[in-house]
Parts: sequence; C-alpha cells; structure tokens
Amino acid sequence: MDSALIVDCIAAVRRALLDSEGDIESLDRAIGDGDHFLNVKRGCDVLLALSPELLPLAPDAACRQIGMKLMSTIGGASGPLLASFFLAMGKSITGAAAVDAETFARAFAAGVEAIAQRGKAGLGEKTMLDVLIPVAGLLQRLTREGIGIDPLCRQLKAEAERGMLATRDMVATKGRAHFLGERAIGHIDPGSKTCQVAIDAVCDLLTSR
Ligand code: ADP
Ligand code: MG
Repeated sequence: MDSALIVDCIAAVRRALLDSEGDIESLDRAIGDGDHFLNVKRGCDVLLALSPELLPLAPDAACRQIGMKLMSTIGGASGPLLASFFLAMGKSITGAAAVDAETFARAFAAGVEAIAQRGKAGLGEKTMLDVLIPVAGLLQRLTREGIGIDPLCRQLKAEAERGMLATRDMVATKGRAHFLGERAIGHIDPGSKTCQVAIDAVCDLLTSR
C-alpha cells in the first residue's frame, strides 16, 4: 500500500457513497436525524481536496493526516469515530518496513478497536461496528492464511453485506437510534450501510487493478 493507492481509494469510496445517497439518507431519516449522508459527503469532499497533500506522504502519515482532517470537518457521532479509525491505523502502520497485507489487516483492526473504544460500543448494538468488527476479523484471518486478492475481496464484500443486513433486526443500544427502542427494528443502521458501501468500493478497486 502506498499513498497513491490511498488517494485512489478516496475517489472510489466517494463515488460509491454519492451513488448510494438515496439509501444512506433515508436510513438516517428513518432512525436518526437525517444528517449522516451530509456528514459523510463533507468528509469525502475534504479528503478529495486533501489528496494532493497526501500523495507525497508515507502511508502512516497519510492516515494520520486523514484522521486529523476528518476530526475537524465531519460532524455528528460518526465524525470523531471515523477520524479515530484513521488516526489509529496510522499509528499502527508507523515503523512497519512495508505495508503488506498483514500489516494493513493489523492496522485496520487497530482502527476498528479505536472506534469501539471511543464509541464504547461492540458487536450487536446496531452501529457501523456490526460491519467493521467482522470484516476486521476476517481480514486478519484470511491475510494470515495468505489468500489471493480476488477471493479475499469477494469474502470481505460478502461479510460486510452480511453485517450491514444483520443490523436490520437489531435494537440499537448506542447512538440516536437507541431512543427509538423496538421501533428501530426493521431499519438498517445508516453507519453500517456507509461502511459496507466503502468496503465494497475499495474491494472493487483492488480487484480491478
Ligand atoms: P449522529 O448520530 O450524531 O447524527 P451520524 O448520523 O453522522 O451522527 O452517524 C450515525 C451513525 O454513527 C450510526 O448509524 C452508527 O453507525 C454510528 N454510531 C453512532 N453512535 C455510535 C457508537 N457509540 N459507536 C459506534 N458507532 C456509532
Ligand atoms: Mg445523524
């Protein structure tokens, strides 16, 4: 992984999220306050604008830069959570000789752990973590086994979709949706949808290269 790939991922994730605007917007309108897509879009736009500054950086510095930028620009609950993901990823990568698949998987897991700590949340609480925790676990296991990029991406996409869809039947115990109690059942969590779309876009980019 280098910063050129990070910049390509930003563009691909932004495109995919813009294409899913209707879905993501209506989910947060149903069980949140309707601002999630706008928060995410603001984040994508500032990262796109930041891309020229990211290119010359080493991957760990680029991740930290992304985290700091998101911390100061995305609002809502999701802003600081996504920012802490990238800050922790950067910290995890620092000192690695090369960012190979296993190093990336470790960094991704560290990022997810940072979200869980900051959000004081875990699996089954109807949040983005219901996508991120299973994907992080699978990514670590499969990269340790030395799987090829195509089957890796196929399995990660399926796991992200499974996690996202599973939030539909959950009662939320964190975030705004928890005020709705049982009324949140039947609606997919917007943050989990955003993460699934982003993971999907990165996987598609990696398999098309
Ligand atoms: P807000 O809820 O402040 O309006 P957003 O709408 O941008 O912020 O983000 C909502 C998403 O953030 C939720 O769909 C959920 O996935 C995620 N989220 C909310 N609270 C937490 C938490 N404590 N831990 C992890 N994720 C959370
Ligand atoms: Mg919201």
